[in-house]
Amino acid sequence: MPVREAPADVFRPYGSRELDTLLRRSSLSERYRREARAVAEVLPFRTNSYVVDHLIDWSAVPDDPMFRLTFPQPDMLPREDRLRVAELVASAAPRRRINEVVQGIRRRLNPHPAGQRERNVPMAGGQRTPGVQHKYRETVLFFPRRGQTCHAYCTYCFRWAQFVGDADLKFAGEAEPLVRYLRDHPEVTDVLVTGGDPLIMSAGVLAQYVEPLLDGALEHVSTIRIGTKSLSYWPHRFLTDPDAEELLALFRRVVRAGRHLVIVAHYSHPRELSTDMAVEAVRRVRETGATIRVQAPVIRGVNDEAGLWTQLWSSSVRLGMVPYYMFVERDTGPQDYFAVPLVRAWEIFRDAYAQVSGLGRTARGPVMSADEGKVCVDGTLTIGEDKVFVLRYLQARQPSWVGRPFLARFDPRAIWWSQLEPVSDVLGGRPWERPPGQFIPGSAGAAGRSTRPGPR
Ligand SMILES: *Cc1c(COP(=O)(O)O)cnc(C)c1O
Repeated sequence: MPVREAPADVFRPYGSRELDTLLRRSSLSERYRREARAVAEVLPFRTNSYVVDHLIDWSAVPDDPMFRLTFPQPDMLPREDRLRVAELVASAAPRRRINEVVQGIRRRLNPHPAGQRERNVPMAGGQRTPGVQHKYRETVLFFPRRGQTCHAYCTYCFRWAQFVGDADLKFAGEAEPLVRYLRDHPEVTDVLVTGGDPLIMSAGVLAQYVEPLLDGALEHVSTIRIGTKSLSYWPHRFLTDPDAEELLALFRRVVRAGRHLVIVAHYSHPRELSTDMAVEAVRRVRETGATIRVQAPVIRGVNDEAGLWTQLWSSSVRLGMVPYYMFVERDTGPQDYFAVPLVRAWEIFRDAYAQVSGLGRTARGPVMSADEGKVCVDGTLTIGEDKVFVLRYLQARQPSWVGRPFLARFDPRAIWWSQLEPVSDVLGGRPWERPPGQFIPGSAGAAGRSTRPGPR
């Protein structure tokens, strides 16, 4: 059965029900398709007509980077796991039995990295404020109750658990407690509206969350950021969606209220900026007075080449956007499949950074967003006999840790913070000033797995 065609500018999501039909666009083996379907039982799959028709090069599947970015691939799960699920599905096992097995596999994929589940709900005026995560002194994250999905899912998403209903969505919240919290916290300058993708909400619903922040009592909130992948996965959000104009009008109101509105755009690959629709969407957002900052993780097989980052950052600058973070993939989900060793991520960053003009060098990275803060890999050094990583907190729960270089033992295979070990005896045992974060017993290792996949 062909996937039903919809007018190109009407949002049409595809899920696991359409997966097999979509996979037949390429000459993949029956076995590949069966195992990819098994993976989609475990990890969330959602894409849409624009991604499928405009971003994926079907002649290059399964190696195409945009395909790898959005479609399940057999190797994302250990062989034994995917064969087990594939067999259960093929033998029409009862749903309950399949779900049991699937839940077991999910639990082994570290579904809640870096305290994602234990977001402690802060209090304001003696009341709980769900949806608020007071991440850094000046920065509050807000998860609106509505808006906990996306126009398409990235296969590496660190929030994958919430898309399979495995995370408690009660952490999300409404506007009123947020406003109460912000009134109590004049030190907060930045509110980050995140999700899911907040721009999955209609303009009217989004306005219910954003407009209260423009209140005169919240003048200290100078910046409102909205994190989104919609500029890439569904640019029609800003062009032809029924409420596109209303959305842009909301952006204008925020700017007119004297606040800095930042669209934090998730772009993983320069191809996402290659369509006329993508370029026009950027132009329209910028026209409102909002600024756009560009960030993404380094993902093996998707964007693990310096040339792609050079293109991404230079196209961004050309379109008036500001390169922001290059992240390291978090320790969750199919991390082993996508992970790039830290030293390789740093080489990619450095080589790309060296190729762009100063305006592209607003990019920082590679960055690990860990529980204690954001750790940037600044490079490697050889001191005497010892090779070390040079690290630095770009953000920390402890403001005093920010911006001080510190060292960890070099490990060519390390892919995440929890695998790094402090350097204590370099420089002949001289006491080494180090931010405490890395050395609180158990703090670095507590959340992470210690898998060390070799190069594949
Ligand atoms: C980066 C980041 C932020 C925002 O920090 P900035 O450095 O101000 O952009 C907030 N929360 C998390 C989890 C982050 O990784």
